[in-house]
Amino acid sequence: MSVAVVQVLRAQNGSGGTLPWGSPVIDCHFHQRATLEGNLAHLNGSGCQAAYLLSRVTSVDDTKRFMAQEPSRFPGYSVSTDVTASDAVQLLTAAVKAGAHGIGEIKSHVAADGPEMRRLYAAAAELNVPITLHFQEVPHTPTEGVFNTGFKRFDKILTEFPKTRFVGHCDAFWANVSADYADNIDYPRTPIVRGGITDKWLSDYPNLFADLSANSGNNALTRDPSFTADFLKRHTDKLFFGSDCACADGHGSGISQQGNPGAARLAGKCVARETLAVLKANSSPDLFHKLVWLNGHRVYNLQV
Ligand SMILES: [Zn+2]
Ligand SMILES: [Zn+2]
Repeated sequence: MSVAVVQVLRAQNGSGGTLPWGSPVIDCHFHQRATLEGNLAHLNGSGCQAAYLLSRVTSVDDTKRFMAQEPSRFPGYSVSTDVTASDAVQLLTAAVKAGAHGIGEIKSHVAADGPEMRRLYAAAAELNVPITLHFQEVPHTPTEGVFNTGFKRFDKILTEFPKTRFVGHCDAFWANVSADYADNIDYPRTPIVRGGITDKWLSDYPNLFADLSANSGNNALTRDPSFTADFLKRHTDKLFFGSDCACADGHGSGISQQGNPGAARLAGKCVARETLAVLKANSSPDLFHKLVWLNGHRVYNLQV
């Protein structure tokens, strides 16, 4: 990339003087794009200053190059791989020892309390890094399948692995903010029945955190406006912003929802912008700053 292109990308960022959201923002659920330009385009378009890059063990060379090129924009990264492979733990352990700040997002067709995941939870505790998990009980398409199933039993894992820091994300995690969730729909839009297990466990377990990313996170924050502000206040130190947005430019262009029919509500929109707007409308400036900047840095142990 030419110097001129970099300067244009920097100029679009707004962090040179103004902060579009009133606070610096780190996107903590940012799937690494193939090029530096692609990564910066989404960050700059959505008004974010930094991203925690979700990488794969096979893409870490790119990650390290992006971080070297733009250290202030990319302060850290996590690694994932297919956990059903027999060498998954060795690969992830080696990647953490080589610099990764976390493990994840882990998204394989296994039970969240099955043997593949248990060995990973133990490794994450041993390595002292958080693990980010995709919980999904309902397939989005006929062929997609489900991931880390059995979330309703996850309190047993939280108890069994007190030294593992878990970051929850995705459909089943967020649908369970409502006590009436029956693993039957991806994105419920009905008013939230108070006392859902996600809400309760965020209060009860010091080792459970959550990123507010994707249509699922946005859905939980918008389905029942009377729930949102109190929920954010209740878990001031446990929640942090991420987008999981696949749009190209931080304004919704391209396929922002990866063709997921259940997420059509946000088609053509940038999830980062949508969720930042909801967070801003439902929090004080201090709380917003925690949710979009401080908490992500703290949980993933990133230098501010
Ligand atoms: Zn996910
Ligand atoms: Zn976007």
